[in-house]
Amino acid sequence: MKIYYNCEHCGQVIDMIEVDQVDEVKFGFDCLTAEERQDIIKIDSVANVMYVHSLCDECIESLGLVNVDEKEPETKLLH
Ligand SMILES: [Zn+2]
Repeated sequence: MKIYYNCEHCGQVIDMIEVDQVDEVKFGFDCLTAEERQDIIKIDSVANVMYVHSLCDECIESLGLVNVDEKEPETKLLH
């Protein structure tokens, strides 16, 4: 499965990785609530692609989210 990380603010692709199996713990998805997962993760099972909404470094900086922790779970996916 290919995993695309998209910046939900500016829309650019931050990263793309290909994995045999999605390790939810490794990607930090196990920390998300069901609602957050629906918001952040979109799966195209036909194309075998997972889209993860995140934020790129520029947008994190421009939005002043650098030091925000608990309220922005999607920024954690970058680390
Ligand atoms: Zn961005």
